[in-house]
Amino acid sequence: MSIVLQLSQVKRNKLERPKECPYCRGETFQRWGRQTRRVKDSQIRTVRVFRYRCTTCRRTFRHYPEGVTHAQQTERMKQLAVICWSFGLSYRKIEMILSAFGVSLSRMSSWRDVQAGAEGIRRRTQWKSARVVGVDGAWVNGQGVMVAVDLGDGEPLAIAAIDEKDMAAVFRWLKGLTQRHGIGVIVTDDLAMYRTMTDKLELGHQVCHFHVRRWVGRACWDLGQRLPEEWLWILDRIKHIMEDLPPDGGKQLLELYKQLPGHLKMAQERTPLDELRFLLIRLSENWERYTTFFHDPGIPWTNNRTEQAIGRMKMRARTVRGYKTRSGMLNGLLVSSTPLT
Ligand SMILES: [Zn+2]
Repeated sequence: MSIVLQLSQVKRNKLERPKECPYCRGETFQRWGRQTRRVKDSQIRTVRVFRYRCTTCRRTFRHYPEGVTHAQQTERMKQLAVICWSFGLSYRKIEMILSAFGVSLSRMSSWRDVQAGAEGIRRRTQWKSARVVGVDGAWVNGQGVMVAVDLGDGEPLAIAAIDEKDMAAVFRWLKGLTQRHGIGVIVTDDLAMYRTMTDKLELGHQVCHFHVRRWVGRACWDLGQRLPEEWLWILDRIKHIMEDLPPDGGKQLLELYKQLPGHLKMAQERTPLDELRFLLIRLSENWERYTTFFHDPGIPWTNNRTEQAIGRMKMRARTVRGYKTRSGMLNGLLVSSTPLT
């Protein structure tokens, strides 16, 4: 769910009558008085609130105009505080800006608005179905976090205080998410851990190509410095296969492997030729994970949108002076990683 940049309407007088009784869902009411309430808003100072009495259960209740609740702030002021905060303003600056519009909102209230904003996002995404999900670890404010982003719309599904190095915790988290959101495919970095997990959870797996190209490029460059010259052509072939991604690339890599003398051995000391063997085998074995996106247009070939969410999160985290609680921190990260639309 994104944070919508359009603010709610606030109506001074609500003309329509309530639809049902909040206690018994009865549908007929008597008017039972009227009050004028002061509200915190940039444009209006008071609203009219009507009381009604339910003819079924005889209880009375207040009926608020659109954009107003029992809280002092109007809905749009709450939204404005959340938007200002995700743009990077401190609570003190939000207080200053709103005071320019004649609204006195304490730092505590805007802090609560951000917390409530996170709760709202969480409620809406809790059971959302998401077929293709980007998963990545990040380090923010001295804490390892795991982030899952719905790659259908680019919006974060979950942020958890888990260090990516804690495999067991990452697995439990991913398993829960898979069940809750009905995930079919995840997009990740090229870490061995995700290969094991996707196999165990029977998930489709796409490895982000930015990462693959980066590490394969580095490995080839490094081997290029040390390999006997007669084998350098293989590095060129590897680069081409990784760029063109032919459907039978896995097989082509295996053929290259077979042309090397000797075979794979688990020796302590690896020669450059051994390293080349391992590289070819690894790429060939994981070929399907590099090319899952060919079979399904809903799968992106990079984990770009997850990285963007992490980028927004880190940008905001840089200027936050510190969170008092872990849940406060996760709420802040969730609000700031959610795109504004
Ligand atoms: Zn009633």
